[in-house]
Amino acid sequence: MPSLTRSEALTRAARIAVDSMEVDLDLDRGPQHFGSRTTIRFTCREPGAETFVDLRAHEVHALSLNGTDVDPASVTDGRLALTGLAQTNVLEVDATMAYSHDGQGLHRSTDPADGEDYVYGHLFLDAAPTVFACFDQPDLKAPYTLTVTAPTAWTVLGNGAATLLAPGRTALATTQPLASYFVTVCAGPWASVRAEHDGIPLGIHARRSLEPHLRDQAQQMIDVTAACFDEYHRLFGIRYPFGEYHQVFVPEFNAGAMENPGCVTFRDQMIFRGAATPDQVFQRSNTIAHEMAHMWFGDLVTMRWWDDLWLNESFAEYMAYRVTSAVGGFDEPWVEFGVMRKLWGYAAERAPSTHPVAGSPAPDALSALGNFDGISYAKGASVLRQLIAHIGDDAFVAGVGEYLRSHAFGNGELAEFIVAIEGAAGRSLTAWSAAWLQTAGADRIGLEGDVLTRVAPEAHPADRAHTLDVAAFVGGREVARVELVVDGERTPVPGLADVPAGALIVPNASDLTWAEVALDAATIDGLPGNLADVPDASARSVLWVSLLGSVARGEVDPRTVLSVFVAAWPREDSAAVLSRVSLLMTNQVVPLFLPPGEQEGARARVADAADALLERSASVAGASGDALAVLAARVWARTGVDEDRLRRWAAGDGIPEVLVGDDDFRWSVLRRLATFGVLGDDEIAAAEAADRSLAGSLAALGVRAVRPTAQAKEWAWGRLRDDADLSNYAALAIAGGFWTAPDAALVRPYVAQVGDLLVGLSGRMGDDAVSRVVSAMHPTSLVEDGTLEASAAMLARADLTPGVRRALVDANHELREALASRRRFD
Ligand SMILES: [Zn+2]
Repeated sequence: MPSLTRSEALTRAARIAVDSMEVDLDLDRGPQHFGSRTTIRFTCREPGAETFVDLRAHEVHALSLNGTDVDPASVTDGRLALTGLAQTNVLEVDATMAYSHDGQGLHRSTDPADGEDYVYGHLFLDAAPTVFACFDQPDLKAPYTLTVTAPTAWTVLGNGAATLLAPGRTALATTQPLASYFVTVCAGPWASVRAEHDGIPLGIHARRSLEPHLRDQAQQMIDVTAACFDEYHRLFGIRYPFGEYHQVFVPEFNAGAMENPGCVTFRDQMIFRGAATPDQVFQRSNTIAHEMAHMWFGDLVTMRWWDDLWLNESFAEYMAYRVTSAVGGFDEPWVEFGVMRKLWGYAAERAPSTHPVAGSPAPDALSALGNFDGISYAKGASVLRQLIAHIGDDAFVAGVGEYLRSHAFGNGELAEFIVAIEGAAGRSLTAWSAAWLQTAGADRIGLEGDVLTRVAPEAHPADRAHTLDVAAFVGGREVARVELVVDGERTPVPGLADVPAGALIVPNASDLTWAEVALDAATIDGLPGNLADVPDASARSVLWVSLLGSVARGEVDPRTVLSVFVAAWPREDSAAVLSRVSLLMTNQVVPLFLPPGEQEGARARVADAADALLERSASVAGASGDALAVLAARVWARTGVDEDRLRRWAAGDGIPEVLVGDDDFRWSVLRRLATFGVLGDDEIAAAEAADRSLAGSLAALGVRAVRPTAQAKEWAWGRLRDDADLSNYAALAIAGGFWTAPDAALVRPYVAQVGDLLVGLSGRMGDDAVSRVVSAMHPTSLVEDGTLEASAAMLARADLTPGVRRALVDANHELREALASRRRFD
């Protein structure tokens, strides 16, 4: 099915305007299909002209344009040509649509905990025509009026306030003008917590089987929502314009969340059913703040086309961290940004798929999906921080307000944004925008004595000025901090010559700029003994991020980072640093960068570090001690080699008190046992019987897939290849365990067949879902030349969708980085 091209969208938007959308959905027709009637009223600026409407139905029953019937068979490739248009037109469509199981379109699933069904709409990026007929592009906005028939026990939520017309029949209030990809309906026997803030009705909803956890956690989310509303109102001077504000935690959601105006959807693992560490609670709060920022950036003013998606995502990313910092109650949000988000972004910048923040390539809608990446989020937000350092915060806030007001309920693009900011700043931003927004690449910043060096990447030359600071630490003391603007290739740092020998010197210590930081050799040598004593969490995060980046670039031996980890990680305080650094150690540094013969030994050293943190946690009182214990125990469960102790932990013996009864933790211990091949089928079945939840059934799939036997791998492969009803989450759970094998010979025979498997999956699942499976199913963990050859053969195929190709390019790059490091350091 052809994806809408940018030029088709331009032509269509020049020709028509959509006046109103009326959609009537019938969700009470069983588990496979739903009814969809649409009435579109639209104006044509060139009467007599033609255009087309998007419609991807299971079956079209009736079509009419301006009262004249149109043959349903004339819908081809998801499009219906509309000819002989009048100035004002009415299109009526009656169709049956199919529910999805891949998180795209109208997703329907059954909760294994109680057999209840739930439906949610995720119409991003191009799935709206699978739910109703529409002109599916971001700049043809219209007010939507939805009416929904559903089983009488269900609650129906959507973008407009719901009114029950009769049992099983709900009207959703007419919305402000919305882009088609923002429309949603969430229906099912939801558990709900409702509140109100500043005249805005609030609702938080989740599956009924999650109700106790929802009730425990709702107040924290309501408090964050309320505080963020106040802060956004203060910053923008524009009130939230979409009526009620519902936050619905839905099952099997691909992304983190989606900013549907008035009815935001979130992945429902964010309703924690076990222990949650401060970084997890922060991440959920930050996601709440991010989606709220979108109510202005994205929803009120929408990018004209997908190549400006940074206007949505970079802003929402930046604003969420700014606002969570401003409302307080969290442990240094910008540190979390550095270690979680910028690490992701720097990896994206190293890959061949990197692109400028603005004007990311999107010749058609579907190819835009790949640009929802570390560049559009983490780099974009970092670039906005540099913009603020460059022009001042008052000018930034004033310019942003002007941009929002002048494009409200419409669309905007880069040039219009720059004009608004230039107006407020009173100066030209042409050169700044060209260097930072319109050129890809990260500069490399390092030190030669007391001179800071800046080198632009050869592939993406630009003259980027950086506002940053350099700090030096000796023992637990900060001995120097110098703020400067780096606008040449060599910039002297006053005062650095006086810093004593043995100091850790940290360029970009406050993490304000976007650059690869190359640490000097003396600082790297000093990290094992001194990193944990650096009193500034931001500087520690920059040191970790630099070190891990240097390993990925093949500049530092992965054994060095293992030594730093063993010495410094157990003494770390930041939950974000503890969590992210340990995840990269266990999922990347050890399995990809160390030779196979050293990996189990390295895991044992990581487990010892986890034990050291566990011991330390016992001496820390209260919630802080609990958080350290949870972080430590989770790492030990992934890396421990003592089978007896794992068995005791699986039975709940000897685990930290805060993890007693935590099903997710028990599954992680079982998974480790399964990798040793010591977990029987009966034990997995018993664990599954004891945890009938969706999370339990997915964890069981993963545990079955990691078992190191030919039968287990054959089973996992067969499910991915043959199971036509496999949901997006089930596929990901199986794929995530498949390549785990103590002996590569067990899985090596599958390497050459991965391309066929993935192409088969992409015939059954949308790109948003399947691209995540691609990342898991690419055989990156077999770091061998043969894998690289197989990966290249996959990339050479002509039958890849844009999402599959993009995920393969990135996985291929990760494999290349690991191979290059192995060649140098093995
Ligand atoms: Zn977003």
